[in-house]
Amino acid sequence: MKRRDAMQGIAIALLAPSLPVGRALAAGLGFAWGMVPTIATVGAVDDPRQALVRDAVGFWNQTLSELRSGFRLGAVASQEGSVPDDLIVALSESTLKGMKRPFPEQLGSIPGDIVVALSDAHFISFSMHWSTGKGLVAIQSGLAYPLNLPNVACNVIAHELGHAIGLGHNSDPTMLMCGRPAPCRPTEFQSATEHYFPLTSDDKALLLQLYPVDWHPSR
Ligand SMILES: [Zn+2]
Repeated sequence: MKRRDAMQGIAIALLAPSLPVGRALAAGLGFAWGMVPTIATVGAVDDPRQALVRDAVGFWNQTLSELRSGFRLGAVASQEGSVPDDLIVALSESTLKGMKRPFPEQLGSIPGDIVVALSDAHFISFSMHWSTGKGLVAIQSGLAYPLNLPNVACNVIAHELGHAIGLGHNSDPTMLMCGRPAPCRPTEFQSATEHYFPLTSDDKALLLQLYPVDWHPSR
């Protein structure tokens, strides 16, 4: 790193007085919604994950309300149509490699700012956001391991929606947003009692940075 860049880094660090000294800021994904995003689920109408998506949206809106953020996720609607499985599998594989694919045209025809694809394919669930303003959350088969384990599907869906509003991963396996490169996997959400895993205080601080108390939609 050049010295000048290092100095800029220090200056930026010093301009973040609300963060406790010595604690790293939770990793964000580099975007925040400027409007209330609507959510379109794409999948069979009788898929049990439809209800889990609505519940997870409620979880996030409750969390945002408790934080006194002005931001909320918008209405959830079930949409006709589908996101092709081969596209989802290819996007999932590129996500694992840390690569970003260009915006897939097939998504453009599906209404909703965040498309939640309830797929029957086998892949690692993921979330993506493009500069077009569209987000995609893709959830792997709900009938197969590991989403068929108790308490896993609801937390995987809530985790991916967390990415869809800009949160990244942490490395604490007792927390909702734990993920790669940490060795956390969806099986860690397994529990006999249905409950959402919690957010870290860094997650909450980042949410309030992205969506402060006076956040309001720009359109
Ligand atoms: Zn993740």
